[in-house]
Amino acid sequence: MASQFMMINPPSSETALTAQGADAPRIAFVSLGCPKALVDSEQIISRLRAEGYELTKSYDGAAAVIVNTCGFLDSAKAESLEAIGAAQAANGKIIVTGCMGAEPEGISTRFPDLFRITGPQDFDSVMQAVHAAAPRPHDAKFDLIPAQGVKLTPRHYAYLKISEGCNNRCSFCIIPKLRGDLASRPAAEILREAEKLVAAGVRELLVISQDTSAYGLDLRYSESMFGDRVVKAKFIDLIRELGALGVWVRLHYVYPYPHVDEAIELMAQGLVLPYLDIPFQHASKEVLRAMKRPGDQEKTLERIRKWRTICPELAIRSTFIVGFPGETDEDFAILLDWLEAAKLDRVGAFKYEPVEGAAANSLGRAFVPAEIQDLRYRRFMERAQTISAKKLKEKIGRRLQVIIDVGGREAVGRSKADAPEIDGKVFVASRRPLRTGEIVTVKIERANAYDLYGTAA
Ligand code: SF4
Repeated sequence: MASQFMMINPPSSETALTAQGADAPRIAFVSLGCPKALVDSEQIISRLRAEGYELTKSYDGAAAVIVNTCGFLDSAKAESLEAIGAAQAANGKIIVTGCMGAEPEGISTRFPDLFRITGPQDFDSVMQAVHAAAPRPHDAKFDLIPAQGVKLTPRHYAYLKISEGCNNRCSFCIIPKLRGDLASRPAAEILREAEKLVAAGVRELLVISQDTSAYGLDLRYSESMFGDRVVKAKFIDLIRELGALGVWVRLHYVYPYPHVDEAIELMAQGLVLPYLDIPFQHASKEVLRAMKRPGDQEKTLERIRKWRTICPELAIRSTFIVGFPGETDEDFAILLDWLEAAKLDRVGAFKYEPVEGAAANSLGRAFVPAEIQDLRYRRFMERAQTISAKKLKEKIGRRLQVIIDVGGREAVGRSKADAPEIDGKVFVASRRPLRTGEIVTVKIERANAYDLYGTAA
């Protein structure tokens, strides 16, 4: 599921803003939503650049404005509608795409004059709409697009989307309605993209999907040719291949299925980062049942303990929902106890939002009043903060590998336990200026609840 929201408005990529020529039509782009939506934006921008369109920061004077929307929560929908409204106030040709495009009536009732509304991942329709707004430049003779495509993340890390859609039916989530069932990409296609990214200087690959551990199920683990060898569309095979590329590989949105144990072995061997992002969502059996999620958190605790024996460095990040319909004080107490027992390294939480169309709204379970949701959210985050502070304190005195996100003598980076945007940072003092993307050893001297401080060794 989506766990963060980012907005790129206007496009921040230098590549995307490179001027091509005075006559090229200019397109403005707004991207909202999670890393998966960001990857979609990168694909559309790559196609625009490949066809010779120029990107502009300004709506005014743009031949069209593309708004890639997020429809995961009502708050995200509201943000998307606001972005559409702002774009329409300045420009007559608005092309809406992304998750909200799956239900176009919700948008067209409010904005009847939009130029085009297309569904998520319907890149062909987006490009057709762009062609209708501003004919393709005739003379796109420049090599406008790098081999790895346009990336909206800094050059040293990149999101790698391995599948789209989801076969699960969590009752609070409408992603399968918006994006359909699991559709995995062939392994060779993913590996070719990963290879290009690494060749272009990417030092960290962030593997994303809706359910990473289900990768390849829909393809029945089919084989494809990567160079001179056959590769299988299977979770463990894919990450082993990615690990062999020699860069940091970080796994997001993994379910604790038994076959994930094999991935922990690869982490212990140093082939992929000892990091797992598992959205547990809750710990109470009752709530998990109502959420339609696997319900045995006792077994999961055992599994986590086993993982940590195999790979003591393992960092686990997770997200939870507090105030799910029918959540009692007892359910919430179970959640807090479980959190304490699992000692997760990084934790985020959402207050339950009754997203339109989600099955959880009509389960007949009473909605938790907003003030109780707020209270539980605060208590949950306080508990998570105490655990995090304790775990980070244990790192004082250790030497950690840190990837530098912001270079200089006062640099900012992340350890293997920190994903960009969602986890903590490592603040690094250094005698020589550190370069962005460089991986350095840092002696940790200080910690607070979320971040570490140290000196480059
Ligand atoms: S796993 Fe559940 S929460 Fe995540 S996308 Fe699939 S249905 Fe939604």
